[in-house]
Amino acid sequence: MTEHPRAILVPDQTPIEPLSQLSEQLGVDLWIKRDDLAGTTFGGNKSRQLEYYLGAARARQADTILITGAVQSNFVRTAAASAAKFGLRTIVQLEARVPDQDALYQTSGNVLLNQMLGAEMMHYHDGEDEAGADAALRARAEEERRKGHTPYVIPLALGNPPLGALGYLRAGQEILSQDSGFDTVVVASGSGLTHAGLLTGLVEGDFSGRVVGSCVRRDATLQTKRIRTVLNNLQTLRGKADEIPSERIHIWDGALAPGYGQIGPAAMNAIRQMAECEGLMLDPVYTAKVFATIPALIENGEIEKDSRVLFVHTGGLASLFAYQTDLSRLLLEN
Ligand SMILES: *Cc1c(COP(=O)(O)O)cnc(C)c1O
Repeated sequence: MTEHPRAILVPDQTPIEPLSQLSEQLGVDLWIKRDDLAGTTFGGNKSRQLEYYLGAARARQADTILITGAVQSNFVRTAAASAAKFGLRTIVQLEARVPDQDALYQTSGNVLLNQMLGAEMMHYHDGEDEAGADAALRARAEEERRKGHTPYVIPLALGNPPLGALGYLRAGQEILSQDSGFDTVVVASGSGLTHAGLLTGLVEGDFSGRVVGSCVRRDATLQTKRIRTVLNNLQTLRGKADEIPSERIHIWDGALAPGYGQIGPAAMNAIRQMAECEGLMLDPVYTAKVFATIPALIENGEIEKDSRVLFVHTGGLASLFAYQTDLSRLLLEN
């Protein structure tokens, strides 16, 4: 087993809380894992992932972190905030991943926070070219090296070792130490590091329930393949030979439409339901789509009445204000 250094950003367990009003409304015993509270500056799942990227960066005595993501990326913002905490500078590359967005999308939410955190921002013209985005980031890292800096690149593409998934392996163990009695755990499935890490941690901890990954970026066919790859890459990274069985992979993409970073009716409904029933916010890009999975799977029978369900809130709340135009319009429509 290989040891991977961890820079501590989430020192304590995040709470698991009951969602009483929604439980009554939906007819299941519903709980929430508050990973929206994990880490600094609006927190979220990327804090757990960054513990291992920054752990590696610090072990290599890096002074500059380079990271790429969507314009409203939470990963990029959390990296800038977490790097600041360790005295590192951050260069972020923002990809044009979401079509037709207005000035608020380009300047508010996470973009404003990046600026306030002192991160340098650059742009990449294509939002679907992971290898190209990584190559542009590596070229910039080379420039930094020539200037005498020690850069550390947090890569995006699937072929890279999924260091961030180690953070969700820990989260899986953490959940089991808090409450091992859930029948279903529902979590976001984007890059897949969160989903694959959590699934691995739970399966290795003898969790017998289902872990459902809800698609936020790609359809179920593509995402199932991606998760299979991330699961295998994670075991390779850990020096483990045993494979997580494919029958443990469950993917749902019913709330993905109209596409990555765009709010559909299912997501909008989820935001309102969570806000009005529990006084908690969901974000439009990820957690609203993930929460929308639960009533849909209750409806189709995949989640049984009265069973125990855990919704993993992965954060993302900083982007709410960048999506103000769409959110206000949708609120008026219903
Ligand atoms: C990035 C992100 C996700 C998806 O996590 P992956 O590890 O990329 O699959 C889910 N929720 C929020 C709020 C995120 O920022």
